[in-house]
Amino acid sequence: MSRRNSPVPDWIPRDLTAAPGVYQFHDAVGTPIYVGKSVNLRRRVRGYFYGGGPKDERMALMVRLARGIEVHPAGTDLEARLEEADRIERFRPAFNKALKNRSKGWFIEVDWGAPFPRLRVISRPRRPRARHFGPYRGRRQPAEVVVLLEKILRLRSCAGAIRPDVEASPCLQHGIDQCTAPCVGLVGLDVYRAQVREAVRLLEDPAYLPVVYERFVRRRDHAAAAGGTDEAISWQRRLGWLEELDSYRYVLEKPWVDRSWLIVLPGPAETERVLVPVARGRVLERRALSWNGSGWSKVVEDAVYEVRLRELQAESVFQPADLTPSLIVTSWLEAGAEGGMAFDLERTDADLVLEHLVKEAERLRKESEGLPHDAEPERDPLAAEESAPVQFVA
Ligand code: SF4
Repeated sequence: MSRRNSPVPDWIPRDLTAAPGVYQFHDAVGTPIYVGKSVNLRRRVRGYFYGGGPKDERMALMVRLARGIEVHPAGTDLEARLEEADRIERFRPAFNKALKNRSKGWFIEVDWGAPFPRLRVISRPRRPRARHFGPYRGRRQPAEVVVLLEKILRLRSCAGAIRPDVEASPCLQHGIDQCTAPCVGLVGLDVYRAQVREAVRLLEDPAYLPVVYERFVRRRDHAAAAGGTDEAISWQRRLGWLEELDSYRYVLEKPWVDRSWLIVLPGPAETERVLVPVARGRVLERRALSWNGSGWSKVVEDAVYEVRLRELQAESVFQPADLTPSLIVTSWLEAGAEGGMAFDLERTDADLVLEHLVKEAERLRKESEGLPHDAEPERDPLAAEESAPVQFVA
């Protein structure tokens, strides 16, 4: 039943907060049917009932079926996005379209289980003996990297399994010098797998690229000196593709996804913080801490300890459920960690994090008591940069 003169039903609390956060509609038996997030929970939730309801048919049906709501305020947009992703993953609400595109990560797969492995771009790693690189956020860039690696190392690009047949003819790829043709036995298993290992090494370590480049330069010069013009031209073309591959260094390095972080976000109150531990790109359970409470340093130490533990246990492949939170954190870090701090746990430990947070707690205490801040000691900017544990402070 609706309140008098208001289209908002009685089961929507009158004192709904205007804070940012996540809301969750339930049906008559309490099953979550839709999860969303907003910077203003009160305005967003009540907005579903004004103007004759949502224009979108799907959302209109959701509103007709809804009989209850839960709200979870969050201190920051990042926390709200993680909470929303977590609830969608946990409850699989029927009206959340995002479920259909749950995995937005892409991987380069090298299937060592096949005798003549191919490099492929896939969205769901399944093959247990395959090596996976990623996740990458889009398909286009890893696909371009795969094409370049195939051309540079003359790997096969054909689909399906290969059974070498010396009576057969290779395809055009061999004709244009972009495949060594294992399909007709022009290279054997060992040589072909060594070619693939070179590709894996380039994917693993972008610093290996100059080593390959130098080797190709020597081979080009040697071919040219011996009068092998065509061969020298072939090496030169491969050098050009290597230079192109170098422009994908940022994609290959995946600077955030493989790293561990302790993210500190503002909490609901001035003296509260939310910790988001990230172990090798996997986002772990969030923890709340309050400067007022005792034992907040233990909360930090425990969070860092859990990251270390999970780093040891991390499987080589991201599970589908890991992807969305990881990509949310990745885009937040890439955008400059707005509104929070991100401690790079490869470069720091719990003690340094605590040292930094103690200073912040002290600053807050002085602010609240109206006392002046201590002057910052003069620092050598270069030395500070080298040792800074905090990657970003908004
Ligand atoms: S030459 Fe043979 S192995 Fe290479 S891409 Fe063509 S069919 Fe595949």
